[in-house]
Amino acid sequence: MLNQYEAMINAYDDALFIVDETQEGDYRFQVANLKAAEPFGLTPSQMIGKSLSELFDEKLAVKLQKRYRHCLKENVSVEYEEAFEFSNTKSVWKTRLSPLISGHQTIGILGISKNITLVKQMQGILREKEDKYQVYLENAPYGVFVADYTGHYLEVNQQACQITGYSKEALLGMKITNLIPQEYKQKGLEHFQQLKQNAKACSDIPFIHRDGSQRWWTVNAVKLNEETFLGFVNDITSAVEARQKIAESERLFQAMLNAIPDMVSVQDPQMNILYSNWNGFAAVEPSKRRLNTKCYRTYRGYDDLCPDCQAKNVMRTKRKHQAQVQLPDGTWVEIRVIPIFDQADGQNKTVKYFLEWVRDITDFKDKETHLQLQKEELIASNEELESLYEELKALNEELIDSEEKANKFSQAKSEFLANMSHELRTPLNGILGFSKLLQKTEIDETQADYLNCVIYSGELLLNIINDILDFSKIEAGKLILEETETDIKAMVQKTFQMSTCKANQKPLTYQLFIDENIPDTLQTDPLRLNQVLVNLLGNAVKFTEKGSVTLKAHLLNLTNTHATIRFSIQDTGIGIPEDQTEHIFEMFTQVDSSSTRVYGGTGLGLPISAKILEKMGSKIHLSTALGKGSTFSFVCDFTRMNLERK
Ligand code: ADP
Repeated sequence: MLNQYEAMINAYDDALFIVDETQEGDYRFQVANLKAAEPFGLTPSQMIGKSLSELFDEKLAVKLQKRYRHCLKENVSVEYEEAFEFSNTKSVWKTRLSPLISGHQTIGILGISKNITLVKQMQGILREKEDKYQVYLENAPYGVFVADYTGHYLEVNQQACQITGYSKEALLGMKITNLIPQEYKQKGLEHFQQLKQNAKACSDIPFIHRDGSQRWWTVNAVKLNEETFLGFVNDITSAVEARQKIAESERLFQAMLNAIPDMVSVQDPQMNILYSNWNGFAAVEPSKRRLNTKCYRTYRGYDDLCPDCQAKNVMRTKRKHQAQVQLPDGTWVEIRVIPIFDQADGQNKTVKYFLEWVRDITDFKDKETHLQLQKEELIASNEELESLYEELKALNEELIDSEEKANKFSQAKSEFLANMSHELRTPLNGILGFSKLLQKTEIDETQADYLNCVIYSGELLLNIINDILDFSKIEAGKLILEETETDIKAMVQKTFQMSTCKANQKPLTYQLFIDENIPDTLQTDPLRLNQVLVNLLGNAVKFTEKGSVTLKAHLLNLTNTHATIRFSIQDTGIGIPEDQTEHIFEMFTQVDSSSTRVYGGTGLGLPISAKILEKMGSKIHLSTALGKGSTFSFVCDFTRMNLERK
């Protein structure tokens, strides 16, 4: 029985032993199996009777004694792990001490020790690995988390905190869906389910950062087990924003190309359309508006390259080409093909794409043809004009020639007239002078009548000669006025009186009004002013048979230096037709040539008067009504005598 008992405890895999307490407070082995004795290099029987202080160094023995004592005293099981060194080999043992009770008495301690060295080593390795992974995890460039399928975070790394802006503690108290914007929550939950079924899921989804801004992350998740999954997250906000910006600028670019009224397309070297704007496809049948089709087939319906293909030339020369082409339907187009080089080759030698730009120039061509025709017409009419110009030039030369001749003739005529007038006046003055002297001698009544006739005719002739002389002076530009101090009032009075004689021969009321305020002396050419008044008064009397002839001199304005006077000669005579009022101021013009016979005259009086007044800075004004009378008037501005000097 004892042998069987011994065999049984030796067969036990762990160290088994029983100790009792010695009087010295040490513990002595009563029973020990093979596994208990083996580490000490003893047999079980050799071990029996040995105490703790005999088997272990003092420090360890004291430590163990404390535990044994505690077990006995407290009557409780004690469990501990302890490292030992047996024959220079370290090992770790896990021991459980239990009080050994017989009846009601504790008679010793039962110890069972298990060599856990290997387990400990494994644990150490595992811990080391775990630590390593923890370091990897924490330092991973992306966020890593473990979560359950309701979205609760169970583990998160530092980068996940960095990405979300939350602390580890905060994240561990949250659900993934807390971070997802409302409108994307459903999508997030669907991903969890997908993950459970497919063992992995991947998606780009927005999340709300702790600072409130919406950002994007890409989540790659793998199923760990039925309860949890592992997720890897990366903040792709800047990539998403860049993508959005690219998409936006692409939209802009497309809108811009579509706004171009011409056909714009991008093609590869095999003539496949890679891009076409709206106008590029506008003329293409809707079913054929497809990309990656041959341009000649899509745009022109040809089976092979267009005969006017410019892309061919571009490939050959690696330069842009353009051509104006008339299509079979008659429209004219301008085709420009621009090479786009492969940036990768760095030398701009490989044509990667073509930009084809086609503009409808039919209108332009029509205009060009029209312009060409116009140009030809212009050239023809220009030639006509040139010959006309030559003719005109010749005519002009002739004219210049004849003008020179005319001028010479006119000058000769004026000189002749001046000379003639002078030559005529001298004998005439002689005739008049001696006739007047003869009047004062003893002559009978008939002789006096004849003499009066001679003097009257002589004066008439003198007037005509004077007018011709003035006319020639005006023609030669030699009419010069002189200025002397003149008593205008006296001068007007005298002029009026001189013509009274003629007026009195008709039943006329012959009146004179002189403004008393007119200063006594003013600067003017009295002879010329008198000549104008005599002429106008003479005409008034001549062309009025009954009624009145009135001469007025009215002061309009007076300053220290100037006096403005309006002269008017009003009659109730035959008047002047409206269409003649302009012409009567032209030389040798009379209203009705037949009237010359009735009234006489040369048609020189008014133009000479108008010229004299023009020289005086005035202008003659006529208001007339046929059969009712005429009023000739003019306003003269006279310089006053220097008052201070006066
Ligand atoms: P003349 O009186 O010597 O013919 P004028 O130059 O003085 O030349 O006048 C030109 C013409 O104007 C006159 O012939 C006459 O037909 C017209 N005329 C001038 N004054 C008057 C007037 N007061 N009433 C009507 N006709 C006038």
